[in-house]
Formats: sequence, structure tokens, C-alpha cells
Amino acid sequence: MSAQSNSWRVNFASDNVGGAAPEIVAALAEAADGFAMPYGNDDLTEKFRALAAETFETELAAYPVATGTAANSIALATLAPPYGVIYCHEGAHIEEDECAAPEFYIGGGKLTLLGGADGKFSAGDLKAKLGDPSAAAAVHHAQPAAVSISQLTEKGTAYTLEEIRAIADVAHAHGLRLHMDGARFANAVNALGCSPAEASWKSGVDVLSFGATKNGAFAAEAVIFFDPALAKDIEFRRKRGGHLFSKMRFLSAQLCAYLENENWLRYGANANGAAKALADGLRNVDGVELLHPVDGNEIFARISASVHQALRAAGCQYYAFGEAPDGSVGIRLVTAFNTGDAETGHFLEAARAGAKGAAA
Ligand SMILES: *Cc1c(COP(=O)(O)O)cnc(C)c1O
Repeated sequence: MSAQSNSWRVNFASDNVGGAAPEIVAALAEAADGFAMPYGNDDLTEKFRALAAETFETELAAYPVATGTAANSIALATLAPPYGVIYCHEGAHIEEDECAAPEFYIGGGKLTLLGGADGKFSAGDLKAKLGDPSAAAAVHHAQPAAVSISQLTEKGTAYTLEEIRAIADVAHAHGLRLHMDGARFANAVNALGCSPAEASWKSGVDVLSFGATKNGAFAAEAVIFFDPALAKDIEFRRKRGGHLFSKMRFLSAQLCAYLENENWLRYGANANGAAKALADGLRNVDGVELLHPVDGNEIFARISASVHQALRAAGCQYYAFGEAPDGSVGIRLVTAFNTGDAETGHFLEAARAGAKGAAA
């Protein structure tokens, strides 16, 4: 029997519906053998740190945690005091999808939201929002502490290196650190065609939530500080936040296998390639309109009622939202490290059949 016990033929609901990559499965099995010291005092955690430094071509401080929410929240808590402001996009995962965990970990804090098309805010809008630094110093105001961007964004787009640099320059000019929510960092690096270093610290990112779970791990993320001095109290925050794993070697084993042989970049490239194939196909289907540029492994579209019905009838799973009076719906499709031609082909065939059915 297949491990997939539900009846969906194709599942594009998210990238975390994909299983785990074989290299990571093998690494966990290997790590299960024998004895190792707890709480990160093990060889695999040390190896992960070395691999991360090599991958990003710089000295850094890297801390494994088990969820992206923890990575973001603990990272932001190291950057912001209880009276601190984090600037982020209004659709940011830290705003919409983390149940106020960042504010919880910060012990207060305040998210201040910026708008902007395709999931991005601009350096100019950030600058306008920050205004005159001397005005912010008044005791009555929460104090600017950090800026956070998601890469990929929540609309599946990638900030360009120039856009990141411009945001970082504004943040730094105001004495703020730049955090990047990299739940889909691998997909972004692939989209930009640059090095991991260029996609992060070389463009001004100070702290990265480095995601692996959505891209082939079981459950592993890391908080990476490119200025190790910023990491001064994270070990206490991580422990207090319940993310200092006693059997840390199992998180680190996943992260080592993820980074080794550039496996993570290969996984991300596969996911992005599958999304591109889907997007290219969908552009030619009547009744399908793409809503945002497809830079990585996520597609947002509006599809007609007949295409939606045909896809559901063909066993295609995805999130649908915003049904219009004509029955059309918005959908999000997310491809994964293990999405294959069989899945994208089946989906496109069903969509085309739905379009044809509507025309008949
Ligand atoms: C999935 C995701 C996360 C992490 O979510 P968890 O469910 O806490 O692991 C963080 N940021 C973005 C943009 C995401 O899509």
C-alpha cells in the first residue's frame, strides 16, 4: 500500500504535502545508530555548522529548530525588545500564519505592516513608513527594531537582489536589522540564479530563517546569523522556547543531508521546474488566469468553475479561495522537491479537459 492513504491523485496543496527526500531519510536512519551527546553537543550539529558556513561562504552562527514559526519567532526575539517594532508585509507569514508567536516570543513587540503588489513591499515604502528617525525616539512610540521579508514571498514571487539590497540599506540606515523568512529559500536561490551568499548576507540580510521542511526534510529549519555577535542570547531563547532538542542530532542529521552535495538546491530546482511546467501549460488553458508572476514553486490563479470541477473530478488537491458568483475560484498550487512529470501532466490534462467541456 502506498504511504499516501488519501485518495488524491495529485496534491498541490502545499510543498509540505511532499514526503521526505531519500538522502534525508537515509541520514536519519544512520543517525539513529549508537550514542551521541545531547542538546547539540554532537558531531552532526558541529558538521551542520561547518556545512552552513561553507554553503554561505562566511562565518556564521546557525541554530537548528523544528518549525518555521519557531525559527522566525526566535530570530525576531533576538532582534527586538518587548517594545520593538518589526516591519513586514501585510501578508507575511509572521503576521497571518503564526498565531502571534513572534509577539509571544518577543514578550510583546509590534508588527507594523506594509502593503505592496505580489507579496512585496518596496524600500521606498519602508523609508516613508520609518520617517524621521528622531521622531521615533519619543517615549510614547514603540521603537523600530527590525525589518522582515519573506523569500519566496507569500505570493510565490522572489525579491530581486537589488530589491533586497535597497530594503537592507533603508533598514540599516535606521539602525534596524534585516530578517529574511526563508521557508522557501532554496526555491528563491534557484529563481534568482545566484549563490546562497548573494541571496542573503551579500545583499544585506542579517538573520535568515533557513527552511528545510518544505523542501524535503521531515522537520528541520535553522536560524542563521551572519553576524555571530547578534546570536548572543539565542541559546537561552531557544531553550526557553522549547526548541533546544535533547536529541538534536536528528535535526542536524536532516540539515547535513540537506546541504551535502547541494541536495537542497537540486530539490528546489525540481520544485521550481515543476511549477514552471504547470504555469506554462496553464497559460494556454481557457478559463485560467495567473494572478502573480511565478518565480518559484507556487502558482496563484483564478480558474473557471468548469476547470475547477474537472480538476477535482480528476483527483487534484489544492487550496481554493474566493469563489465568485460565476463559480470561478482562486487557487494556489505548490510543487515540491519530488513533484514529477506524471503529476504536472495529469493536472494539465484535467484542466484542458475542463476548459473544453465548458466550450462544448
Ligand atoms: C511554511 C512557512 C513558514 C513555516 O511554517 P511552520 O508551519 O511553522 O513550519 C514560514 N514562513 C513561510 C513564508 C511559510 O510559507
